[in-house]
Amino acid sequence: MRHMFTTESAATAAYVVAALLFILALAGLSRHETARVGNAFGILGMAIALLAVVAEVIHDRIDPLPAALLAAAVVVGGAIGLWRAKVVEMTGMPELIALLHSFVGLAAVLVGWNGYLHVEHHLQGPAAETLVAEDLLGIHSTEVFIGVFIGAVTFTGSIVAFLKLSARIKSSPLLLPAKNLLNIGALLAFVALTVWFVLAPAVWLLVVVTSLALLLGWHLVASIGGGDMPVVVSMLNSYSGWAAAASGFLLDNDLLIITGALVGSSGAYLSYIMCTAMNRSFISVIAGGFGVEAGPSDDTDYGEHREISAEGVAELLSEADSVIITPGYGMAVAQAQHGVAELTRKLRARGVHVRFGIHPVAGRLPGHMNVLLAEAKVPYDIVLEMDEINDDFGGTAVVLVIGANDTVNPAASEDPSSPIAGMPVLTVWKADHVIVFKRSMASGYAGVQNPLFFRDNSAMLFGDAKDRVEDILHAL
Ligand code: NDP
Repeated sequence: MRHMFTTESAATAAYVVAALLFILALAGLSRHETARVGNAFGILGMAIALLAVVAEVIHDRIDPLPAALLAAAVVVGGAIGLWRAKVVEMTGMPELIALLHSFVGLAAVLVGWNGYLHVEHHLQGPAAETLVAEDLLGIHSTEVFIGVFIGAVTFTGSIVAFLKLSARIKSSPLLLPAKNLLNIGALLAFVALTVWFVLAPAVWLLVVVTSLALLLGWHLVASIGGGDMPVVVSMLNSYSGWAAAASGFLLDNDLLIITGALVGSSGAYLSYIMCTAMNRSFISVIAGGFGVEAGPSDDTDYGEHREISAEGVAELLSEADSVIITPGYGMAVAQAQHGVAELTRKLRARGVHVRFGIHPVAGRLPGHMNVLLAEAKVPYDIVLEMDEINDDFGGTAVVLVIGANDTVNPAASEDPSSPIAGMPVLTVWKADHVIVFKRSMASGYAGVQNPLFFRDNSAMLFGDAKDRVEDILHAL
Protein backbone atom coordinates (compact mmCIF):
# COMPACT_ATOMS: atom_id res chain seq x y z
CA MET A 1 0.00 0.00 0.00
CA ARG A 2 2.78 2.33 1.06
CA HIS A 3 4.67 1.41 -2.11
CA MET A 4 1.63 2.21 -4.29
CA PHE A 5 1.25 5.57 -2.60
CA THR A 6 4.85 6.40 -3.46
CA THR A 7 4.46 5.51 -7.14
CA GLU A 8 1.24 7.47 -7.40
CA SER A 9 2.66 10.57 -5.81
CA ALA A 10 5.82 10.28 -7.92
CA ALA A 11 3.61 10.14 -11.02
CA THR A 12 1.58 13.16 -9.83
CA ALA A 13 4.78 15.09 -9.19
CA ALA A 14 6.04 14.16 -12.67
CA TYR A 15 2.75 15.37 -14.16
CA VAL A 16 3.01 18.72 -12.37
CA VAL A 17 6.59 19.17 -13.63
CA ALA A 18 5.56 18.18 -17.18
CA ALA A 19 2.60 20.59 -17.09
CA LEU A 20 4.89 23.43 -15.97
CA LEU A 21 7.34 22.56 -18.75
CA PHE A 22 4.50 22.71 -21.30
CA ILE A 23 3.52 26.17 -20.05
CA LEU A 24 7.16 27.30 -20.30
CA ALA A 25 7.29 25.79 -23.81
CA LEU A 26 4.30 27.87 -24.93
CA ALA A 27 5.82 30.99 -23.38
CA GLY A 28 9.14 30.30 -25.14
CA LEU A 29 7.55 29.61 -28.51
CA SER A 30 5.88 33.02 -28.56
CA ARG A 31 9.16 34.82 -29.41
CA HIS A 32 11.80 34.18 -32.07
CA GLU A 33 14.69 34.48 -29.69
CA THR A 34 13.35 31.99 -27.15
CA ALA A 35 11.62 29.54 -29.52
CA ARG A 36 14.47 27.02 -29.44
CA VAL A 37 14.50 26.88 -25.64
CA GLY A 38 10.69 26.67 -25.66
CA ASN A 39 10.87 23.66 -27.94
CA ALA A 40 13.40 22.00 -25.64
CA PHE A 41 11.06 22.52 -22.65
CA GLY A 42 8.24 20.90 -24.64
CA ILE A 43 10.36 17.86 -25.55
CA LEU A 44 11.52 17.45 -21.94
CA GLY A 45 7.94 17.76 -20.63
CA MET A 46 6.69 15.15 -23.10
CA ALA A 47 9.53 12.75 -22.22
CA ILE A 48 8.77 13.07 -18.48
CA ALA A 49 5.03 12.59 -19.14
CA LEU A 50 5.62 9.47 -21.23
CA LEU A 51 7.95 7.96 -18.63
CA ALA A 52 5.43 8.64 -15.85
CA VAL A 53 2.59 7.00 -17.82
CA VAL A 54 4.71 3.95 -18.63
CA ALA A 55 5.82 3.64 -14.99
CA GLU A 56 2.22 3.88 -13.80
CA VAL A 57 0.94 1.24 -16.24
CA ILE A 58 3.74 -1.18 -15.45
CA HIS A 59 3.21 -0.68 -11.75
CA ASP A 60 -0.58 -1.04 -11.87
CA ARG A 61 -0.59 -4.27 -13.86
CA ILE A 62 1.79 -7.00 -12.89
CA ASP A 63 0.60 -8.73 -16.06
CA PRO A 64 3.40 -8.30 -18.64
CA LEU A 65 1.03 -8.11 -21.62
CA PRO A 66 -0.11 -4.46 -21.18
CA ALA A 67 3.48 -3.38 -20.59
CA ALA A 68 4.65 -5.21 -23.73
CA LEU A 69 1.79 -3.71 -25.77
CA LEU A 70 2.63 -0.25 -24.48
CA ALA A 71 6.33 -0.67 -25.28
CA ALA A 72 5.48 -1.88 -28.79
CA ALA A 73 3.12 1.09 -29.34
CA VAL A 74 5.76 3.58 -28.14
CA VAL A 75 8.47 2.05 -30.35
CA VAL A 76 6.30 1.78 -33.49
CA GLY A 77 4.68 5.22 -32.98
CA GLY A 78 8.01 6.85 -32.15
CA ALA A 79 9.69 5.32 -35.20
CA ILE A 80 6.92 6.45 -37.58
CA GLY A 81 6.95 9.93 -36.01
CA LEU A 82 10.74 10.26 -36.35
CA TRP A 83 10.67 9.06 -39.94
CA ARG A 84 7.84 11.40 -41.00
CA ALA A 85 9.41 14.41 -39.26
CA LYS A 86 12.70 13.66 -41.04
CA VAL A 87 11.30 13.33 -44.55
CA VAL A 88 8.57 15.99 -44.45
CA GLU A 89 9.24 19.09 -46.53
CA MET A 90 8.61 22.43 -44.86
CA THR A 91 5.78 22.98 -47.35
CA GLY A 92 4.18 19.68 -46.27
CA MET A 93 4.06 20.64 -42.56
CA PRO A 94 0.46 21.94 -42.44
CA GLU A 95 -0.95 18.77 -43.96
CA LEU A 96 1.14 16.60 -41.64
CA ILE A 97 -0.15 18.63 -38.68
CA ALA A 98 -3.73 18.21 -39.94
CA LEU A 99 -3.18 14.45 -40.17
CA LEU A 100 -1.76 14.34 -36.63
CA HIS A 101 -4.84 16.22 -35.35
CA SER A 102 -7.00 13.51 -36.92
CA PHE A 103 -5.18 10.89 -34.79
CA VAL A 104 -5.95 12.86 -31.62
CA GLY A 105 -9.61 12.95 -32.67
CA LEU A 106 -9.68 9.23 -33.38
CA ALA A 107 -7.99 8.46 -30.05
CA ALA A 108 -10.63 10.51 -28.22
CA VAL A 109 -13.41 8.57 -29.99
CA LEU A 110 -11.82 5.25 -29.02
CA VAL A 111 -11.28 6.36 -25.41
CA GLY A 112 -14.93 7.44 -25.25
CA TRP A 113 -16.20 4.13 -26.65
CA ASN A 114 -13.90 2.26 -24.30
CA GLY A 115 -15.31 4.25 -21.37
CA TYR A 116 -18.84 3.30 -22.39
CA LEU A 117 -18.04 -0.39 -22.85
CA HIS A 118 -16.32 -0.57 -19.46
CA VAL A 119 -18.91 1.31 -17.46
CA GLU A 120 -22.36 2.01 -18.91
CA HIS A 121 -22.56 -1.12 -21.05
CA HIS A 122 -22.20 -3.69 -18.24
CA LEU A 123 -22.55 -1.61 -15.12
CA GLN A 124 -20.34 -4.21 -13.52
CA GLY A 125 -16.79 -4.14 -12.20
CA PRO A 126 -15.17 -1.87 -9.61
CA ALA A 127 -15.12 1.31 -11.77
CA ALA A 128 -18.83 1.10 -12.61
CA GLU A 129 -19.80 0.19 -9.04
CA THR A 130 -17.90 3.16 -7.59
CA LEU A 131 -19.53 5.55 -10.09
CA VAL A 132 -23.01 4.20 -9.34
CA ALA A 133 -22.41 4.25 -5.57
CA GLU A 134 -21.19 7.86 -5.70
CA ASP A 135 -24.00 8.91 -8.04
CA LEU A 136 -21.48 9.98 -10.68
CA LEU A 137 -22.71 7.83 -13.54
CA GLY A 138 -24.41 10.80 -15.24
CA ILE A 139 -21.14 12.74 -15.24
CA HIS A 140 -19.31 9.76 -16.74
CA SER A 141 -21.93 9.42 -19.49
CA THR A 142 -21.64 13.15 -20.30
CA GLU A 143 -17.85 12.81 -20.52
CA VAL A 144 -18.19 9.82 -22.86
CA PHE A 145 -20.64 11.61 -25.13
CA ILE A 146 -18.76 14.94 -25.29
CA GLY A 147 -15.43 13.15 -25.81
CA VAL A 148 -16.79 11.05 -28.67
CA PHE A 149 -18.48 14.08 -30.26
CA ILE A 150 -15.46 16.43 -30.19
CA GLY A 151 -13.15 13.57 -31.18
CA ALA A 152 -15.22 12.55 -34.20
CA VAL A 153 -15.64 16.17 -35.40
CA THR A 154 -11.86 16.63 -35.09
CA PHE A 155 -11.19 13.33 -36.86
CA THR A 156 -13.12 13.91 -40.10
CA GLY A 157 -12.54 17.69 -40.04
CA SER A 158 -8.77 17.10 -39.93
CA ILE A 159 -8.94 14.53 -42.71
CA VAL A 160 -10.73 17.02 -44.99
CA ALA A 161 -8.17 19.69 -44.02
CA PHE A 162 -5.37 17.22 -44.86
CA LEU A 163 -6.96 16.44 -48.25
CA LYS A 164 -7.45 20.15 -49.05
CA LEU A 165 -3.99 21.24 -47.93
CA SER A 166 -2.27 18.47 -49.87
CA ALA A 167 -4.38 19.38 -52.94
CA ARG A 168 -5.92 15.90 -53.06
CA ILE A 169 -9.34 17.58 -53.17
CA LYS A 170 -10.29 21.08 -54.34
CA SER A 171 -9.92 23.83 -51.74
CA SER A 172 -13.06 25.69 -52.87
CA PRO A 173 -15.90 25.72 -50.31
CA LEU A 174 -18.66 23.12 -50.48
CA LEU A 175 -21.89 25.12 -50.55
CA LEU A 176 -24.76 22.79 -49.67
CA PRO A 177 -28.20 24.41 -49.59
CA ALA A 178 -29.20 25.33 -46.02
CA LYS A 179 -25.69 24.49 -44.79
CA ASN A 180 -26.04 26.74 -41.76
CA LEU A 181 -29.25 24.99 -40.76
CA LEU A 182 -27.47 21.63 -41.13
CA ASN A 183 -24.72 22.75 -38.73
CA ILE A 184 -27.10 24.24 -36.18
CA GLY A 185 -29.42 21.21 -36.48
CA ALA A 186 -26.48 18.87 -35.80
CA LEU A 187 -25.50 20.85 -32.68
CA LEU A 188 -29.07 20.87 -31.35
CA ALA A 189 -29.39 17.12 -32.05
CA PHE A 190 -26.12 16.58 -30.13
CA VAL A 191 -27.48 18.42 -27.07
CA ALA A 192 -30.75 16.44 -27.17
CA LEU A 193 -28.91 13.12 -27.63
CA THR A 194 -26.57 13.94 -24.72
CA VAL A 195 -29.54 14.42 -22.38
CA TRP A 196 -31.07 11.17 -23.63
CA PHE A 197 -27.80 9.26 -23.17
CA VAL A 198 -27.32 10.58 -19.63
CA LEU A 199 -30.85 9.49 -18.71
CA ALA A 200 -30.69 6.11 -20.47
CA PRO A 201 -27.26 5.13 -21.82
CA ALA A 202 -27.57 2.88 -24.87
CA VAL A 203 -25.15 1.78 -27.54
CA TRP A 204 -27.35 2.99 -30.41
CA LEU A 205 -27.22 6.54 -29.06
CA LEU A 206 -23.44 6.37 -29.13
CA VAL A 207 -23.52 5.05 -32.71
CA VAL A 208 -25.84 7.92 -33.73
CA VAL A 209 -23.72 10.64 -32.10
CA THR A 210 -20.51 9.20 -33.56
CA SER A 211 -21.98 9.19 -37.09
CA LEU A 212 -23.50 12.65 -36.63
CA ALA A 213 -20.18 14.10 -35.43
CA LEU A 214 -18.22 12.41 -38.24
CA LEU A 215 -20.55 14.00 -40.80
CA LEU A 216 -20.52 17.39 -39.05
CA GLY A 217 -16.69 17.48 -38.95
CA TRP A 218 -16.54 16.66 -42.64
CA HIS A 219 -19.15 19.29 -43.52
CA LEU A 220 -17.70 22.06 -41.32
CA VAL A 221 -14.28 21.96 -42.96
CA ALA A 222 -15.52 21.15 -46.47
CA SER A 223 -17.62 24.36 -46.40
CA ILE A 224 -14.63 26.56 -45.64
CA GLY A 225 -12.92 28.24 -48.60
CA GLY A 226 -9.19 28.22 -49.38
CA GLY A 227 -8.49 31.66 -47.91
CA ASP A 228 -9.79 30.65 -44.48
CA MET A 229 -7.79 27.40 -44.26
CA PRO A 230 -5.12 28.88 -41.91
CA VAL A 231 -7.82 29.53 -39.35
CA VAL A 232 -9.19 26.02 -39.85
CA VAL A 233 -5.81 24.42 -39.13
CA SER A 234 -5.43 26.31 -35.85
CA MET A 235 -9.11 25.71 -35.03
CA LEU A 236 -8.66 21.94 -35.50
CA ASN A 237 -5.58 22.23 -33.33
CA SER A 238 -7.84 23.73 -30.67
CA TYR A 239 -10.49 21.00 -31.13
CA SER A 240 -7.83 18.31 -30.81
CA GLY A 241 -6.84 19.90 -27.48
CA TRP A 242 -10.41 19.79 -26.17
CA ALA A 243 -10.74 16.19 -27.41
CA ALA A 244 -7.58 15.28 -25.47
CA ALA A 245 -8.92 17.07 -22.37
CA ALA A 246 -12.19 15.10 -22.64
CA SER A 247 -10.14 11.88 -22.79
CA GLY A 248 -8.22 13.08 -19.74
CA PHE A 249 -11.46 13.26 -17.74
CA LEU A 250 -12.42 9.75 -18.84
CA LEU A 251 -9.00 8.28 -18.12
CA ASP A 252 -8.74 10.23 -14.88
CA ASN A 253 -5.44 11.67 -16.06
CA ASP A 254 -4.77 15.21 -14.83
CA LEU A 255 -1.86 15.84 -17.18
CA LEU A 256 -4.00 15.04 -20.22
CA ILE A 257 -6.65 17.47 -18.96
CA ILE A 258 -4.08 20.24 -18.42
CA THR A 259 -2.27 19.62 -21.73
CA GLY A 260 -5.55 19.37 -23.63
CA ALA A 261 -6.76 22.63 -22.10
CA LEU A 262 -3.45 24.35 -22.97
CA VAL A 263 -3.63 23.17 -26.59
CA GLY A 264 -7.36 23.92 -26.79
CA SER A 265 -7.12 27.46 -25.48
CA SER A 266 -3.90 28.42 -27.28
CA GLY A 267 -5.34 27.05 -30.56
CA ALA A 268 -8.55 29.02 -30.02
CA TYR A 269 -6.55 32.16 -29.27
CA LEU A 270 -4.37 31.69 -32.37
CA SER A 271 -7.51 31.23 -34.50
CA TYR A 272 -8.87 34.45 -33.03
CA ILE A 273 -5.64 36.36 -33.77
CA MET A 274 -5.63 35.05 -37.35
CA CYS A 275 -9.27 35.98 -37.86
CA THR A 276 -8.55 39.51 -36.63
CA ALA A 277 -5.52 39.70 -38.95
CA MET A 278 -7.64 38.56 -41.88
CA ASN A 279 -10.65 40.69 -40.94
CA ARG A 280 -12.86 37.61 -40.70
CA SER A 281 -15.51 36.93 -38.11
CA PHE A 282 -14.29 34.22 -35.74
CA ILE A 283 -17.78 32.81 -35.28
CA SER A 284 -18.32 32.73 -39.03
CA VAL A 285 -15.16 30.69 -39.60
CA ILE A 286 -15.60 28.22 -36.73
CA ALA A 287 -19.20 27.69 -37.78
CA GLY A 288 -17.94 26.46 -41.12
CA GLY A 289 -17.96 29.56 -43.31
CA PHE A 290 -21.29 30.74 -41.89
CA GLY A 291 -22.69 33.40 -44.20
CA VAL A 292 -19.91 33.02 -46.77
CA GLU A 293 -21.33 32.91 -50.24
CA ALA A 294 -19.47 31.97 -53.41
CA GLY A 295 -17.89 35.00 -55.06
CA PRO A 296 -18.60 35.80 -58.71
CA SER A 297 -16.28 34.09 -61.16
CA ASP A 298 -13.52 36.47 -62.15
CA ASP A 299 -13.44 37.24 -65.85
CA THR A 300 -12.30 40.87 -65.52
CA ASP A 301 -9.82 41.94 -68.19
CA TYR A 302 -6.92 43.60 -66.38
CA GLY A 303 -4.90 44.26 -69.56
CA GLU A 304 -1.38 43.07 -70.31
CA HIS A 305 1.34 42.19 -67.84
CA ARG A 306 5.01 43.18 -68.29
CA GLU A 307 7.99 40.87 -67.97
CA ILE A 308 11.46 41.66 -66.69
CA SER A 309 14.74 39.71 -66.79
CA ALA A 310 16.97 38.88 -63.81
CA GLU A 311 19.54 41.35 -65.21
CA GLY A 312 16.85 44.03 -65.34
CA VAL A 313 16.01 43.39 -61.68
CA ALA A 314 19.71 43.50 -60.73
CA GLU A 315 19.96 46.90 -62.41
CA LEU A 316 16.91 48.22 -60.55
CA LEU A 317 18.32 46.92 -57.28
CA SER A 318 21.72 48.50 -57.80
CA GLU A 319 20.06 51.91 -58.18
CA ALA A 320 17.65 51.43 -55.25
CA ASP A 321 18.17 52.96 -51.82
CA SER A 322 15.38 50.96 -50.15
CA VAL A 323 14.03 47.46 -50.80
CA ILE A 324 11.23 45.49 -49.15
CA ILE A 325 10.98 41.75 -49.72
CA THR A 326 7.55 40.14 -49.25
CA PRO A 327 7.91 36.36 -49.34
CA GLY A 328 5.04 33.90 -49.73
CA TYR A 329 4.32 30.24 -50.22
CA GLY A 330 6.34 30.12 -53.49
CA MET A 331 9.56 30.97 -51.60
CA ALA A 332 8.94 27.86 -49.47
CA VAL A 333 8.22 25.69 -52.54
CA ALA A 334 11.36 26.88 -54.31
CA GLN A 335 13.43 26.76 -51.07
CA ALA A 336 14.72 30.16 -52.15
CA GLN A 337 15.29 31.49 -48.60
CA HIS A 338 19.09 30.96 -48.64
CA GLY A 339 19.46 32.84 -51.93
CA VAL A 340 17.16 35.56 -50.62
CA ALA A 341 19.28 35.84 -47.45
CA GLU A 342 22.44 36.09 -49.58
CA LEU A 343 20.82 38.80 -51.72
CA THR A 344 19.86 40.67 -48.55
CA ARG A 345 23.45 40.53 -47.25
CA LYS A 346 24.81 41.77 -50.57
CA LEU A 347 22.39 44.67 -50.81
CA ARG A 348 22.90 45.67 -47.17
CA ALA A 349 26.68 45.61 -47.70
CA ARG A 350 26.11 48.18 -50.47
CA GLY A 351 24.20 50.40 -48.06
CA VAL A 352 20.68 49.55 -49.31
CA HIS A 353 17.96 49.66 -46.63
CA VAL A 354 16.50 46.12 -46.89
CA ARG A 355 13.52 44.88 -44.87
CA PHE A 356 11.05 42.00 -45.02
CA GLY A 357 7.27 42.37 -44.79
CA ILE A 358 5.52 39.27 -43.44
CA HIS A 359 1.80 38.75 -43.86
CA PRO A 360 0.20 36.82 -40.96
CA VAL A 361 -1.05 34.05 -43.28
CA ALA A 362 1.82 33.99 -45.82
CA GLY A 363 2.82 30.42 -46.68
CA ARG A 364 0.87 27.48 -45.38
CA LEU A 365 1.23 27.60 -41.62
CA PRO A 366 1.46 30.30 -38.97
CA GLY A 367 5.00 31.65 -38.84
CA HIS A 368 6.02 29.73 -42.00
CA MET A 369 8.04 32.62 -43.47
CA ASN A 370 9.65 33.52 -40.15
CA VAL A 371 10.90 29.95 -39.76
CA LEU A 372 12.40 29.89 -43.27
CA LEU A 373 14.08 33.28 -42.87
CA ALA A 374 15.45 32.34 -39.44
CA GLU A 375 16.81 29.11 -40.95
CA ALA A 376 18.63 31.21 -43.59
CA LYS A 377 19.98 33.48 -40.82
CA VAL A 378 18.20 36.67 -41.85
CA PRO A 379 18.49 39.06 -38.83
CA TYR A 380 15.21 39.24 -36.84
CA ASP A 381 15.24 43.02 -36.61
CA ILE A 382 14.70 43.51 -40.36
CA VAL A 383 11.81 41.01 -40.49
CA LEU A 384 8.67 43.06 -39.82
CA GLU A 385 5.01 42.15 -39.43
CA MET A 386 2.44 43.49 -41.91
CA ASP A 387 1.19 46.20 -39.52
CA GLU A 388 4.72 47.41 -38.84
CA ILE A 389 5.63 47.85 -42.51
CA ASN A 390 2.41 48.58 -44.39
CA ASP A 391 2.81 52.37 -44.16
CA ASP A 392 6.35 52.24 -45.59
CA PHE A 393 5.70 50.84 -49.07
CA GLY A 394 4.94 54.38 -50.32
CA GLY A 395 8.54 55.58 -50.00
CA THR A 396 10.21 52.33 -51.13
CA ALA A 397 12.12 52.04 -54.42
CA VAL A 398 11.75 48.30 -55.11
CA VAL A 399 9.54 45.59 -53.66
CA LEU A 400 10.45 41.96 -54.40
CA VAL A 401 7.35 39.76 -54.14
CA ILE A 402 8.90 36.32 -53.86
CA GLY A 403 6.27 33.63 -54.44
CA ALA A 404 3.49 35.58 -52.70
CA ASN A 405 0.12 36.10 -54.33
CA ASP A 406 -3.04 36.28 -52.17
CA THR A 407 -1.21 38.22 -49.45
CA VAL A 408 -0.32 41.05 -51.88
CA ASN A 409 -3.61 41.13 -53.83
CA PRO A 410 -5.01 44.70 -54.10
CA ALA A 411 -8.46 43.25 -54.92
CA ALA A 412 -8.80 42.43 -51.21
CA SER A 413 -8.95 46.11 -50.37
CA GLU A 414 -10.33 47.54 -53.62
CA ASP A 415 -12.91 45.07 -54.95
CA PRO A 416 -15.81 44.41 -52.55
CA SER A 417 -17.02 41.50 -54.72
CA SER A 418 -13.69 39.65 -54.42
CA PRO A 419 -13.82 36.40 -52.38
CA ILE A 420 -10.93 37.76 -50.29
CA ALA A 421 -12.49 41.24 -49.88
CA GLY A 422 -11.75 42.75 -46.49
CA MET A 423 -8.62 40.67 -45.80
CA PRO A 424 -5.79 43.09 -44.98
CA VAL A 425 -2.91 42.70 -47.46
CA LEU A 426 0.62 44.02 -47.89
CA THR A 427 0.19 47.23 -49.94
CA VAL A 428 3.19 46.50 -52.17
CA TRP A 429 1.70 48.35 -55.17
CA LYS A 430 2.45 51.69 -53.48
CA ALA A 431 6.20 51.23 -54.07
CA ASP A 432 7.98 52.70 -57.14
CA HIS A 433 8.69 49.26 -58.66
CA VAL A 434 7.19 45.87 -57.84
CA ILE A 435 8.87 42.68 -59.09
CA VAL A 436 6.75 39.52 -58.84
CA PHE A 437 8.65 36.22 -58.79
CA LYS A 438 6.48 33.29 -59.92
CA ARG A 439 6.40 30.59 -62.57
CA SER A 440 3.20 31.49 -64.43
CA MET A 441 0.16 33.74 -64.26
CA ALA A 442 -1.65 31.13 -62.10
CA SER A 443 -3.66 32.32 -59.11
CA GLY A 444 -2.69 31.73 -55.46
CA TYR A 445 -4.22 29.45 -52.83
CA ALA A 446 -7.57 31.29 -52.71
CA GLY A 447 -7.97 30.83 -56.49
CA VAL A 448 -8.42 34.57 -57.09
CA GLN A 449 -6.89 36.55 -59.98
CA ASN A 450 -4.39 39.21 -58.86
CA PRO A 451 -4.70 42.68 -60.51
CA LEU A 452 -1.26 43.59 -59.05
CA PHE A 453 0.41 41.72 -61.93
CA PHE A 454 -1.12 44.13 -64.47
CA ARG A 455 -0.23 47.42 -62.79
CA ASP A 456 2.06 49.88 -64.57
CA ASN A 457 4.71 49.72 -61.84
CA SER A 458 4.70 45.88 -61.71
CA ALA A 459 6.83 43.45 -63.70
CA MET A 460 6.84 39.66 -63.67
CA LEU A 461 10.06 37.67 -63.27
CA PHE A 462 8.98 34.20 -64.38
CA GLY A 463 10.64 30.96 -63.28
CA ASP A 464 11.50 29.08 -60.13
CA ALA A 465 12.16 31.65 -57.42
CA LYS A 466 15.42 30.01 -56.28
CA ASP A 467 16.89 30.00 -59.80
CA ARG A 468 15.80 33.57 -60.46
CA VAL A 469 17.29 34.84 -57.18
CA GLU A 470 20.56 33.13 -58.07
CA ASP A 471 20.51 34.75 -61.53
CA ILE A 472 20.10 38.14 -59.86
CA LEU A 473 22.98 37.42 -57.47
CA HIS A 474 25.10 36.55 -60.51
CA ALA A 475 24.13 39.70 -62.36
CA LEU A 476 24.85 41.85 -59.31
P1 NDP B 1 -0.23 31.99 -52.47
O1 NDP B 1 -0.54 30.60 -52.15
O2 NDP B 1 -1.33 32.95 -52.63
O3 NDP B 1 0.64 32.06 -53.81
C1 NDP B 1 1.86 31.40 -53.91
C2 NDP B 1 2.45 31.74 -55.27
O4 NDP B 1 3.74 31.16 -55.32
C3 NDP B 1 1.63 31.14 -56.38
O5 NDP B 1 0.98 32.18 -57.09
C4 NDP B 1 2.65 30.39 -57.25
O6 NDP B 1 2.53 30.84 -58.59
C5 NDP B 1 3.98 30.81 -56.66
N1 NDP B 1 4.96 29.73 -56.67
C6 NDP B 1 4.78 28.44 -56.36
N2 NDP B 1 5.90 27.74 -56.50
C7 NDP B 1 6.84 28.61 -56.91
C8 NDP B 1 8.22 28.49 -57.23
N3 NDP B 1 8.86 27.33 -57.16
N4 NDP B 1 8.88 29.60 -57.63
C9 NDP B 1 8.24 30.78 -57.73
N5 NDP B 1 6.94 30.95 -57.43
C10 NDP B 1 6.25 29.89 -57.03
O7 NDP B 1 0.82 32.47 -51.36
P2 NDP B 1 0.75 33.55 -50.19
O8 NDP B 1 1.86 33.16 -49.27
O9 NDP B 1 0.72 34.94 -50.74
O10 NDP B 1 -0.65 33.32 -49.50
C11 NDP B 1 -0.91 32.22 -48.66
C12 NDP B 1 -2.27 31.63 -48.99
O11 NDP B 1 -2.36 30.35 -48.35
C13 NDP B 1 -3.41 32.48 -48.46
O12 NDP B 1 -4.53 32.38 -49.30
C14 NDP B 1 -3.68 31.83 -47.11
O13 NDP B 1 -5.00 32.08 -46.66
C15 NDP B 1 -3.48 30.36 -47.47
N6 NDP B 1 -3.15 29.49 -46.34
C16 NDP B 1 -2.29 29.93 -45.36
C17 NDP B 1 -2.03 29.13 -44.26
C18 NDP B 1 -1.19 29.69 -43.15
O14 NDP B 1 -1.34 29.25 -42.02
N7 NDP B 1 -0.28 30.61 -43.43
C19 NDP B 1 -2.61 27.77 -44.14
C20 NDP B 1 -3.45 27.37 -45.27
C21 NDP B 1 -3.70 28.23 -46.32
P3 NDP B 1 3.02 29.90 -59.82
O15 NDP B 1 2.32 28.60 -59.66
O16 NDP B 1 2.64 30.67 -61.03
O17 NDP B 1 4.50 29.78 -59.65
